[in-house]
Amino acid sequence: MAVIAEDQQASEHEAGAQPSGDVETFAFQAEINQLLSLIINTFYSNKEIFLRELISNASDALDKIRFEGLTDKSKLDTQPELFIHVVPDKTNKSLTIIDSGIGMTKTDLVNNLGTIARSGTKSFMEALSAGADISMIGQFGVGFYSAYLVAEKVIVHSHNNDDEQYIWESQAGGSFTVQRDAGEELGRGTKIVLYLKEDQLEYLEERKLKDLVKKHSEFISYPISLWTEKTTEKEVSDDEDEEAVKEEKDGEEGKIEEITDEEEKKDKAKKTKKVKEVSHEWAVMNKQKPIWMRPPDQITKEDYAAFYKSLNNDWEEHLAVKHFSVEGQLEFKSVLFVPKRAPFDMFDGRKKLNNIKLYVRRVFIMDNCEELIPEYLGFVKGVVDSEDLPLNISREMLQQNKILKVIRKNIVKKCLEMFNEITENKEEYIKFYEAFGKNVKLGIHEDSQNRAKLAELLRYQSTKSGEDHTSLKDYVTRMKEGQKDIYYITGESRKAVENSPFLEKLKKRGLEVLFMVDPIDEYAVQQLKEYDGKKLVSSTKEGLKLDETDDEKKRKEEIKAQFEGLCKLMKDILGDKVEKVLVSDRIVDSPCCLVTGEYGWSANMERIMKAQALRDSSTSSYMSSKKTLEINPENAVMRELQKRADVDKSDKTVKDLVLLLFETALLTSGFSLDDPNTFGTRIHRMVKLGLSIDEDGTAGDEDEADMPALEEDADEGSRMEEVD
Ligand code: ADP
Repeated sequence: MAVIAEDQQASEHEAGAQPSGDVETFAFQAEINQLLSLIINTFYSNKEIFLRELISNASDALDKIRFEGLTDKSKLDTQPELFIHVVPDKTNKSLTIIDSGIGMTKTDLVNNLGTIARSGTKSFMEALSAGADISMIGQFGVGFYSAYLVAEKVIVHSHNNDDEQYIWESQAGGSFTVQRDAGEELGRGTKIVLYLKEDQLEYLEERKLKDLVKKHSEFISYPISLWTEKTTEKEVSDDEDEEAVKEEKDGEEGKIEEITDEEEKKDKAKKTKKVKEVSHEWAVMNKQKPIWMRPPDQITKEDYAAFYKSLNNDWEEHLAVKHFSVEGQLEFKSVLFVPKRAPFDMFDGRKKLNNIKLYVRRVFIMDNCEELIPEYLGFVKGVVDSEDLPLNISREMLQQNKILKVIRKNIVKKCLEMFNEITENKEEYIKFYEAFGKNVKLGIHEDSQNRAKLAELLRYQSTKSGEDHTSLKDYVTRMKEGQKDIYYITGESRKAVENSPFLEKLKKRGLEVLFMVDPIDEYAVQQLKEYDGKKLVSSTKEGLKLDETDDEKKRKEEIKAQFEGLCKLMKDILGDKVEKVLVSDRIVDSPCCLVTGEYGWSANMERIMKAQALRDSSTSSYMSSKKTLEINPENAVMRELQKRADVDKSDKTVKDLVLLLFETALLTSGFSLDDPNTFGTRIHRMVKLGLSIDEDGTAGDEDEADMPALEEDADEGSRMEEVD
């Protein structure tokens, strides 16, 4: 699992090297050290996962050298065979894992095994303290350290083609050493020797090791061989026996234990006897054909789960799987999985997720081929095995490769089919949507070709859904007669939108409104625009038109005329703060609300943009929402204002109240206040007025009846306009 290393390089100085002869001592980086203590000291029973992690690292290292070998065959010369060996040694209480992978240079050993913390180190510890399980370690890219679950000392011998062979050694405890390895030559690869803790000796048992490999590493695509002991019984004459014992003493291998079988001895005239001969041999533990090559109807759910887990170092099984092959002008086979949860770093901008492993005719090529799957589907895991691509394909070639484009198209299609299948199980789909709903929305934003299909996957709560989520399809079935559009409101949370003034009229007419409360909804809905021929209409923007009878229309015209004067006056008072002031169609109870342009930013979008730390401050001013103040002619406040305005256009109280209403509408419509202090002052003065308190703090004297305290503030309001 490749995780971006933090931007630091190990130098001997930084890492605290203390040369002592040829042996250099390094301090573990602080977080790694903390992680090691956690691994060693936490009571944890499922220690067996260490083997899976080390085998998975070996497999990655083999993938790397095999890939290099595709373009330069000579790289494999140092060790032509690609294998993983597991050797238990009861005498020394050690378990050794050897691979002929790419190996590590001295710098790699220092950097990768101790001095450079990856982003996952800290995340893993945080996850642990939040109750995560140690078996999740592989997901965080720090699997190597799981060796210390079972070992008190670990020695790593490693040889990379570009360097000499080195030894890394540590008993944890804060430091490790690195030195040249003059011992047995590996040729190329890595040999990890675990000196097991006294209570972990079960990992030397063949049965146990075989079970573990079967359980966790069956689908590793290199042979994993166990150094096994084999006992055979052999009949030998007494003379032969003596010979054999003699040979045993001289030779290196094979050990003969004498067993005397009294019965047989009698039968065979005391001439021969049976002996047990112990020999060693490699036993391959993973004999399965690659799962994607097998017919789907012969693969059980457990098989898929085991494959999924070994492919992704996951401890949980998958949520959904799609196994398919494409034939015709191009051929490939693939198994795709949806995990149960999102990875911890899904939207970490530094890391591009891509979890599809590319094989060409069974040979692993690469596991982060960006051309295979669009970014929004980066959470889908699996393998693709192509019959048509050349084996020595380079990254550059991949970018223009037509075959790959067709494969990608098919993968996206199959992914969408797979997601659709999940929708059939409501409970599963909720899990899927919680984990990957954002990806679906990102897809709607980015993938115009599949937008309509992705829209089927959307789920929202609404004014009629209760705690459930509704699909757009179900919304459409509930649409009222004559309803042409699908209504939605965007905002920060359900709580913030469900009682919004914007919904008053819609609710009153029984029209359902979808709550879009995920920041990414703003982006998705801008692209989606319609579903099933029905326009998606924002209840907070212009363009919301509700059906009216002729009578209603007529009445509206009358009201409009009646309030024209007030609208004009309000616009004059508010100046640039608003584009227009109109009589509203959408509010029933509130006095007024602020609507944005149909194609401009909504209040919610403005909030999101303001929250983006890296936003270019120069864009904010002209991008900010153009607002229309809509007033409610039925509201008593508005009616009273209109009366006062008719009497005296320059009534200062009217001016004050208009400003206050505007600011309040900013808040209830989901905007934020540019100058909350002025608003606060205005409100405090209102409070004083309500309590009949004078500016000087005494109560009761009401000389100037018409809100004297607010007059100064009106000036402040106009000053603000100039500044704006
Ligand atoms: P991960 O394997 O998830 O990256 P690990 O902590 O398991 O994290 O390993 C850290 C790094 O050490 C690996 O990324 C790899 O570069 C190196 N490494 C570990 N084991 C081997 C191995 N057997 N052969 C070559 N390199 C290895």
